[in-house]
Order: sequence, then C-alpha cells, then structure tokens
Amino acid sequence: MDKKDISKYQDRDASMLFGQNVDAIIMVDATNNRYHSIIRNGFFERFIDEDGDYNELVETLWFHFNNTQDRVIQDYKVFIPTFGKFKGKYSKKLKLFFEGDSQLHIVQMTVYPVGYEQYMFVMDELDNSEYIQEFMTRKKVSTIQNTYLFSMYIDLVQNTTSSISITEISDETVNSSISYTDWRMMIVNMIGPDDQKLFLERSDPEYLKANFVPGRTSSFDCLMMNLEGKYIWVKLIFSRAETRYDDDYRFVFMVQNIHENTVELMDELKKYEEMASKDSLTNLYNHGRMETELKNAMDYRKKQGAVSVMILDIDYFKNVNDTFGHSVGDVTLKYFARELLDYVKDKNAAVGRWGGEEFVIVGYDRSISSMAEMAEEVREIVFSTDFPVVGQITCSIGVTELGENDSPDDTFNRMDKALYQAKTDGRNCVRVL
Ligand code: GH3
Ligand code: MG
Ligand code: MG
Repeated sequence: MDKKDISKYQDRDASMLFGQNVDAIIMVDATNNRYHSIIRNGFFERFIDEDGDYNELVETLWFHFNNTQDRVIQDYKVFIPTFGKFKGKYSKKLKLFFEGDSQLHIVQMTVYPVGYEQYMFVMDELDNSEYIQEFMTRKKVSTIQNTYLFSMYIDLVQNTTSSISITEISDETVNSSISYTDWRMMIVNMIGPDDQKLFLERSDPEYLKANFVPGRTSSFDCLMMNLEGKYIWVKLIFSRAETRYDDDYRFVFMVQNIHENTVELMDELKKYEEMASKDSLTNLYNHGRMETELKNAMDYRKKQGAVSVMILDIDYFKNVNDTFGHSVGDVTLKYFARELLDYVKDKNAAVGRWGGEEFVIVGYDRSISSMAEMAEEVREIVFSTDFPVVGQITCSIGVTELGENDSPDDTFNRMDKALYQAKTDGRNCVRVL
C-alpha cells in the first residue's frame, strides 16, 4: 500500500477518505419523511434503497434491534428513539440481518443533525469478528436482560420521558421530547382492554408521587401488545430513583416479557383448580365446587334467568355394598355419574357429586316445571339402565327452583325436603317443592 506523509493531508481529503471508508451515508428529511442515500456499499446496497420513506428506514433499523421480521405496528413507534428525531449526535452499534443472508452484520451507526429535522446517517459495517463474538456471548449471558422489552426514564416534575435501551448492543440514553403525560396516553393503547384502567391508575403522576418513597419499586402484570400486534403477558415495573430531594420525582419504567412463564403458570393453576374442584371417584364436580356453582347460580338468577336444581339419591344403595361389596358399589357410582354427565352434556346445566350416593344438577334458564320434567327423564333413564353386575337400580329425586330471596341454605333445605318426600312416598319418584 502507498504511504503518504500524513502532514500532506488537507481538509478536502477528509471528505474523500470518509466517502471511501464508510459503507453508507444517508441524508434524511424527517419533516417530509424522506431519505436519500449518497453512498450504499456492501450489503447496504440491498438493505436500503436509494430513496425512500424515512419512517420505513427507522422501522427497518428498529426491526433489527428487536430481531423481528414482521412489521412494527403503528403504536410501537413510540418506542423508536424519539420517533426518529434527534437533538444531537447519536451513535449506536446495531445488529442487522439481511433477509436471505444468514450472516449477522454489526454496524456502527452515527446520526448527525445537519439542518432542521434533517440528518446524515453514517453507517459502517464492523467486519471484525470480535464484535460478533462479543454479541454472541452477551446474548447468552443477557437472557434475563432480554426479557426487558423497553424502559424509559420518567421525570414527573419536568414531565419528560427519555428512552433507555437495555437489550440493544449499546446502552446510551436517547433524548426524547415526549412528555410523560402524552407518552402515558400512547402506551395505554397497547395495554389489553381489560387492563387499561389499572394502567391509567398506576401510571397516574399523582398515584406515583403518593405511593413511591425514593428507591421503591413496584410492579403489576397485564396484557400488552407486542411488536407483531399480539397481546402478551408483561410485567410493568415502576421504580423511583433514590434522590437527594423529596420533591424530585424521577422513575424508571420497565416492561418485562413474562409471557411464557405466565401462560405456563396459568395452565398449571387451571390444572390444580380442576383437580381441586373434581370428585376423585366419579370425576364430577365435588361438593365444594357445587356449593360455588349454587352461589354463582344465585347471581345468574338475579341477572339472567330462572335456575332450578335437583338432588338425586340412589335408593337402598347400602344394599349394593352389602350384597356385592364396596368396590362394586364404587363402580356403580362411577357408572351412575357417567349416565348423569351424558344426560346433561347438551343442556345448560352443571352436575356434581354432593356426597356418598347423592348427586346434584343445577339447570340454567329452567323453570321448576321444566326441571321436574328433566328429573322425570333422568329417573326413567336410571330405572331402565342395566348397570354392570348390579343390574337395575333406582333413584329418588327432589326438585326446586331458586327463589328471589333465597339464601343458598334455603334452596338446599327445600331441595332436601323434596327428596325426603320422594323417599317417604316409596322411592323411584320425583317430588317438587
Ligand atoms: P335410601 O334409599 O334411604 O337412600 O337408602 P340408602 O341405603 O341408599 O341410604 P343410606 O344413607 O343408608 O346409605 C348410603 C350408603 O352409601 C351407605 C354408604 O356405605 C354408601 N356409600 C357412600 N359413599 C360411598 C362410596 O363412595 N362408595 C361406596 N361403595 N359406597 C358408598
Ligand atoms: Mg343418601
Ligand atoms: Mg340412598
């Protein structure tokens, strides 16, 4: 390579050398949302157009910050550094993937403001594999960090926000001109509809001032739209800075992706809930679950429509045990339960084992006379079923309707009385009270 005495270089050499040595120079007009490339070398030739839409350019770069191939949804632009408006020089290392090219490109990007909302983006690929190495190792050690999607500095006194990036390669702060109050109203659109009220409550400046002593961190979980426009579970964390003055209200706000864990946890909880609400012998709802069902039915009765209930008790079940043994008794209960479940499956009703050889059915949108007809059908089914080993068994049924001023106990008692009536009237029959 030629060697030139460095003292011979003059300032006009600078621009020539600059042009020869950087991979891309792009002029941007943020006001008119345009960009124009002066230099595009290497993979930038395919990655960035000669002329184009500035928002798209920022988005393109932003995708790669986040390793997503999909479009960034409109609302998420609030997280693009200052909406692509820069106040001073801004420099950052980016990791870029070009579609159809398996290689990861590490790029140093510097933005120079050159006029009113006009910038020069200078991008240079760093071909030193050390950077790739550095990035790969960091990726491994920073899995926890990677669950942090976004973070912001908030100053409540100045009513300002500025974004901080944790998951990107470099960690410099980006100045932003969005006021906290405006920012909050933008974020709320990304929060799941059911959680928006909670978000507004917890992010209210007055709430934050009143509830956070310096150094306090507090969080809550909610659904939030991700970059692809899907709702995911996130933890929203507010943390007040330790400051010298009590009236200095500065916070860090962070969004942590907890989706996978939360979904797993919710599945687990659902399983436990199911287990806790099922009777182990028959796999029907258990007594506790049926009590809850009845309480909920009281609400349904008030708001939606008539609810009636029936209790079924197998006749002379003790004889089954005495004659065939306890395990045949168990099998008979299981078989009986399956018959009931089969009967209610296409009806708006819930069935459970009340205890022993007693079962309860709650029928929604059902008057007392309609429930009595249903009870008669069930009685007939049981009567005509050939049960394994034991053959024919019968049951007695008590029916009642939930009254306007009933407590759950009132309903139970009436239902029980009706059953007792059925028993004393000779069993294998339905009585209504
Ligand atoms: P009634 O017609 O008056 O209802 O007579 P019954 O024999 O059915 O009534 P009783 O309450 O005297 O007896 C119920 C029997 O149900 C007694 C108990 O051993 C039996 N039983 C309760 N739970 C189970 C169970 O889980 N498995 C078995 N095999 N039997 C049970
Ligand atoms: Mg009984
Ligand atoms: Mg019985």
